Amino acid sequence: VFISFEGGEAAGKTTQMQMLRDHLVTERFVAEDLILTTREPGGTELGASIRELLLHGEHVDPRAEALLYAADRAHHIATLVRPHLARGGLVLGDRYLDSSIAYQGAGRSLEPDEIGSLSLWAADGLLPHRTILLDVPTDALDERRVSADHDRLEKAGQDFHATVRQEFLDLAAADPERFAVIDGTLPREQVHAQVLEAVNGVLGI
Ligand code: C5P
Ligand code: MG
Repeated sequence: VFISFEGGEAAGKTTQMQMLRDHLVTERFVAEDLILTTREPGGTELGASIRELLLHGEHVDPRAEALLYAADRAHHIATLVRPHLARGGLVLGDRYLDSSIAYQGAGRSLEPDEIGSLSLWAADGLLPHRTILLDVPTDALDERRVSADHDRLEKAGQDFHATVRQEFLDLAAADPERFAVIDGTLPREQVHAQVLEAVNGVLGI
């Protein structure tokens, strides 16, 4: 089973993934090695190099950027995610193809549909069984963003983040079977409870 976590920066994706993982191990007795927590970009060694280029390198042309994310995804899915799923494992992904549609597509003014097709091609058709969208209004995101250690892309303006947020919400509205939209401004224990509710159906445990 593959579950992805999506949302803007500092929406709580990483925290909620860890909380879900801990819950599954300590309360539901899922074997630790059955749970793979990973992220995009950067889930593999190659991906870590691509992530470094994307987030800390020179400015990358939008189409080149989209292809680098797609390359990261292709390698990540083929070498890490699919083998883990084939072993019957559970994959928790910090960002996946919806991030590309929102950031490289809507955010960078490329065609979201084309980025979606590119991403699906890269992933050889793999869609998550459930996608948790942690939705946080743009102004709230600005307050949460830590001032230290900003990524290059996090310096983008309000409009960019508003566009990205809206694209995530549109994607969720178009596929309510896959998506669960959770208010990321709620206290983290409340968000966690809603995450559990959202994944229970697909976990089958
Ligand atoms: O997931 P995380 O917050 O670490 O992402 C790091 C940065 O990469 C973010 O600033 C985000 O804007 C950017 N990103 C992107 N397109 C993606 C995934 C991440 O622009 N597909
Ligand atoms: Mg994070």
